[in-house]
Amino acid sequence: MAIKVGVVGYGTIGKRVADAVAMQKDMKLIGVTAHSYSFNTEVAKAKGYKIFTIDGDGDLKLNGIIPDGDINNLLEEAEVIVDATPKKIGKENIAKYYKPNKIKAAVQGGEKHEVTGTSFVAQCNYDEALGKDYVRIVSCNTTGLCRTLHAVNEKYGISSVHATMIRRGADPGDIHHGPINAIVPVLEMPSHHGPDVQTVLHNVEIFTTALSVPSTLMHLHTLTVDLKKKANVEDVVELFRNSTRIRVVRNAEHLRSTAEIMEFARDIGRLRGDMPEICVWKEAIGITANTHNKLLYMQAIHQESDVIPENIDAIRAMTGFKDGQKSIEMTNESFGIK
Ligand code: NAD
Repeated sequence: MAIKVGVVGYGTIGKRVADAVAMQKDMKLIGVTAHSYSFNTEVAKAKGYKIFTIDGDGDLKLNGIIPDGDINNLLEEAEVIVDATPKKIGKENIAKYYKPNKIKAAVQGGEKHEVTGTSFVAQCNYDEALGKDYVRIVSCNTTGLCRTLHAVNEKYGISSVHATMIRRGADPGDIHHGPINAIVPVLEMPSHHGPDVQTVLHNVEIFTTALSVPSTLMHLHTLTVDLKKKANVEDVVELFRNSTRIRVVRNAEHLRSTAEIMEFARDIGRLRGDMPEICVWKEAIGITANTHNKLLYMQAIHQESDVIPENIDAIRAMTGFKDGQKSIEMTNESFGIK
């Protein structure tokens, strides 16, 4: 029987999750919520998704969209909700809607770890989410850090990590945020990303710093990792090549920047031009020549899409699908991830 899924919050993340759910053979999308009328609701309607209102019909009917019900109707039909509302609203929605209706919910990285007590990146800790009522899919940056660091930790053991996140100022469709002409450091040490990684990779010592730049195309991370075992560059390249949801990109392909990676994603026909894999530059992987135990690398994170496969795997884990590896394979196949 297909897992019945509802999506609450139909923005950057929610609309991608809805499409991904609709693509899964073992899931059924019950519908999505609409706060107010926009091109998003028009597109959802055109795709045949049911639309459920929150806090009244707003301007939907005025614009010719007849809702299929309200959030209570969605909650009656769905077994699991993916909540992709702006930060802090997921926490409120658990208390207001999901707990009273005894319905499972996956919330996003804008919520704090304590909201669910379980933070999730499928290839790192799928089993921790098994059967849970509430799970938090960590942020795009934390997902990117966890994917590559988990692979490195499994093979070499990590003594400590220092990572700097160079973050896009806004999503491409976001007209409210910036900067448009500045580099803005996060003035707290460490940035919140390090402690957030530890909610998934519990024993990895990590210190992070972060800044925002005028770009909408991906985040870029630089990492310095002290290893417990010696390593060489070729083996690390192979490690990343063989790890799921990580893509090794090369200067030789002219994939030298976040812009070219996004163009590549469009050219290979990815839905919305998304790149859910974490892209590590082959030529930017280095090992210290004298000690062979300090690894440096750079990676790019497509903030709008890397967490989408994680939401799909979390739905399976929460509803009791025990084989995490199999879930990852099923999800990857639907996304065209090799
Ligand atoms: P968004 O602003 O693009 O979309 C949020 C949607 O929720 C909007 O459609 C809005 O109308 C709707 N909404 C607002 N209040 C609501 C309510 N009370 N009930 C139902 N719907 C409501 O936001 P987003 O970028 O998709 O972020 C959603 C979550 O995902 C946040 O926790 C964020 O931190 C996390 N996240 C975002 C990104 C990213 O780069 N955009 C990446 C990873 C995780």
